[in-house]
Amino acid sequence: MKYLAEFQDPGLARRLLDDIHATATRPWALMEVCGGQTHSIIRHGIDQLLPEQVELIHGPGCPVCVTPLEMIDKALAVAALPEVTFCSFGDMLRVPGSGRDLFRVKSEGGDVRVVYSPLDALEIARRDPGRQVVFFGIGFETTAPANAMVVHQARRLGVRNFSLLVSHVRVPPAIEAIMRAPHCRVQAFLAAGHVCSVMGTDEYPELAARHKVPIVVTGFEPLDVLEGIRRTVHQLERGEHRVDNAYARAVRAEGNPAARRMLAEVFEVTDRAWRGIGTIPASGWRLAHAYRDFDAEHRFGVTGVTTEEPAACRSGEVLQGLIKPRECAAFGTTCTPRTPLGATMVSSEGACAAYYLYRRLDPAAPPSKEAAPVG
Ligand code: SF4
Repeated sequence: MKYLAEFQDPGLARRLLDDIHATATRPWALMEVCGGQTHSIIRHGIDQLLPEQVELIHGPGCPVCVTPLEMIDKALAVAALPEVTFCSFGDMLRVPGSGRDLFRVKSEGGDVRVVYSPLDALEIARRDPGRQVVFFGIGFETTAPANAMVVHQARRLGVRNFSLLVSHVRVPPAIEAIMRAPHCRVQAFLAAGHVCSVMGTDEYPELAARHKVPIVVTGFEPLDVLEGIRRTVHQLERGEHRVDNAYARAVRAEGNPAARRMLAEVFEVTDRAWRGIGTIPASGWRLAHAYRDFDAEHRFGVTGVTTEEPAACRSGEVLQGLIKPRECAAFGTTCTPRTPLGATMVSSEGACAAYYLYRRLDPAAPPSKEAAPVG
């Protein structure tokens, strides 16, 4: 496919790999922030093609995975209400809550619908003013602008039977929390290119300087990932810690000003719990006071939900890069994509799902050098 094949060219990939091999002289641990990057790395065997000293640690940038259990349970409670039509992207329906998931609520008679845009949910609300229509607004800076816009639209159009169950998270505070964690091994970050295409790069130079870590804005195709790694390794070997944009075809320093204005209008920054990790200060968004009437938590009074993760699930350690998925005893045995114990096995961006899908099953196996070639 044009525009994608160009970024999967095996000859160019080989040249980038040769450069990385020629440059790396010491052990380096790089974290790719986004689950989409993790899938690209595992799918194309990029981690297995790197020099042994260069380790990729999979970060917490999977939106479905980090949505806290408490919020899933709130979604289940709201979705089960007889007056509610609950709308969500499809990947949230199988995420396990404390006792069930949204599919179960649907099978028990709940009006749970998969939509492809928050605007679809708003349209449902406009057509059926007798129903309370709720959209499950989760995710990073990438999905937040569309959710901000739909609430803005709902208020402008006077659609009072629409509300948003909000669980948005922000990347820079997560990087800060990862660097402050006592067992942190991360020496550099591949920042998520799509997040930066919205938010720009202004939040990163201060983080890079304070923690002395290179932050390289990186895309998602194999050549994007390899170029991000190549630039990162060059910085590490030279002792530099700058912000570098390796995804210039999509990212400008200022990001998307219209999207940022909409976010600033509709949301305000708040502390947010991350599933398996805990609360990270200022790491999320909630609806600003002026939009509180559209807040589903407020409208349906689903506060005070407390939960406990299944003891067998180590997704918090996976999300912090402390273990690889196959080091979890449940991986591929009691926990599979058909019977997930944790969200990292459900989501299409989850690291556990990526390891299962691409058959990285053996916990004792050393990294194979027989990975499928890029492209
Ligand atoms: S394999 Fe399953 S149980 Fe283990 S960390 Fe991943 S999601 Fe949790």
